[in-house]
Amino acid sequence: MYSFTEENYLKAIYKLQERQEEAVSTNAIADSLNTRAASVTDMVQKLSGKSLLIYEKYKGVVLTEAGRKVAIGLVRKHRLWETFLVDKLRFTWDEVHELAEQLEHIKSEELVDKLDEFLGFPKHDPHGDPIPQQDGKMLSQALILLEQMPEKAFAIISGVVNHSPVFLQYLQKQNLVLGISVEVLEKNAFDKSMSIRLNAEKEIQVSAEVARNLLMKV
Ligand SMILES: [Zn+2]
Repeated sequence: MYSFTEENYLKAIYKLQERQEEAVSTNAIADSLNTRAASVTDMVQKLSGKSLLIYEKYKGVVLTEAGRKVAIGLVRKHRLWETFLVDKLRFTWDEVHELAEQLEHIKSEELVDKLDEFLGFPKHDPHGDPIPQQDGKMLSQALILLEQMPEKAFAIISGVVNHSPVFLQYLQKQNLVLGISVEVLEKNAFDKSMSIRLNAEKEIQVSAEVARNLLMKV
């Protein structure tokens, strides 16, 4: 069994590694966990002692297979709990992340597997992120950013890069939510804003910041 802090480190490293596919620097870990590099070095050494990761000074950190398994288990629990909170308890998609941060540390595998079954083995959480199955596998679908779409192209909103409550609330207000179809009408070369049409009806203007934080399935 691992402590909350150990688990949070493993998850943070897993997410950083997912993005860059090589060793993760202790500075990057410190940034993502909002802590000092010195504390990261201590914890990384501790986790290395438990064979959960490999740490090479000046090179960085790579999770071992055992460390990866723990991290994926946490991601699985986190995303299943978010799905449960939205689908069954009617929380909104901007409210569930902090709750899931706590619920993901529940140890019982049996509870998690039953939760998965109860929810009907969902493939994605309320933010469009893939949910790992019991065996650790997850569906990976090729998504692109809204900003990468050319004019006249169509796609479906399928995920968000930024998970902050303010961003999610903003999207909700604009009806830029999962499952909505988008047609790119015009891209503004000056400020990279876009005018788009939602569900073949409403035309709206989105900022460059929004366009680089929405994931689309073509
Ligand atoms: Zn979350």
